Amino acid sequence: MSAALAARGVTLSYGRRPILDDVDLDVRRREVLALVGPNGAGKSTLLSVLAGDISPDKGEVLLEDRPLSTWKLREMSRKRAVLTQEHRISFPFPAVDVVRMGRSPWRGCPEEDDDERVVAEAMATADIERLAGQPFGLLSGGEKGRTSFARVLAQRTGVLLLDEPTAALDIGHQEAVLAHARAQATAGAAVVVVLHDLSLAAAWSDRVALLHHGRVTAEGTPSEVFTAPLLSLVYDHPIDVVAHPVTGDLLVLADRRALVSREETA
Ligand code: ADP
Ligand code: MG
Repeated sequence: MSAALAARGVTLSYGRRPILDDVDLDVRRREVLALVGPNGAGKSTLLSVLAGDISPDKGEVLLEDRPLSTWKLREMSRKRAVLTQEHRISFPFPAVDVVRMGRSPWRGCPEEDDDERVVAEAMATADIERLAGQPFGLLSGGEKGRTSFARVLAQRTGVLLLDEPTAALDIGHQEAVLAHARAQATAGAAVVVVLHDLSLAAAWSDRVALLHHGRVTAEGTPSEVFTAPLLSLVYDHPIDVVAHPVTGDLLVLADRRALVSREETA
């Protein structure tokens, strides 16, 4: 089956600085794809290109086999929803109105009849019901993140592009958000999620793409990509990959032994 969303030779520079270099990536239905890599690797830029918010200098993105440039914005908004890294909305509207914004692509469609039910469900999933009436600008970072996640869910699209949806979330809500992304994939959605916590990525994704200096350095299952030598090289820091003694889950940890022995000998 063809990919729900596919990047083909995506290349982009800002000024003379290459940011994305010939990126090929398939985003498949029923799959959570984790996009990982160091700060500045190009993850958010790639997500914006996949979303159609930024056009590449070279290459293209296909949504359901059609170049993004041929899609109308509204039509595209019924297919893919995007959670950006910054929750920039600063208007004094209550959180529930932010979630309702997710329904705007469906205005005038039969789906509009479901608006209130869909908004209520999304708010319950994101655990923000008690924040419904609070001005968005006054919410904590994690609460803003969960409200934006609810907005994305309310959009009811088959493709979800989530840029660090777990940033600023407590451990319970991190798990809840990724469990829900996972459930969406199981139900047929194609999900891309940018994550910094590699243990979370290992636990919740089917496939990982490791971005480094604007290139996909490695792609595969978490156990294929998350090896100590590769991660230590890409992150320029000693990293350990161990299996959880009970569950066998991959745990990716900073290896501090070199640091400790350096201090001991100092
Ligand atoms: P990541 O999300 O992996 O941390 P980004 O995709 O946000 O990285 O950014 C990749 C690189 O591109 C960074 O070095 C960043 O400074 C640069 N960059 C991002 N957006 C712009 C822009 N609008 N103009 C110039 N440089 C940018
Ligand atoms: Mg980013």
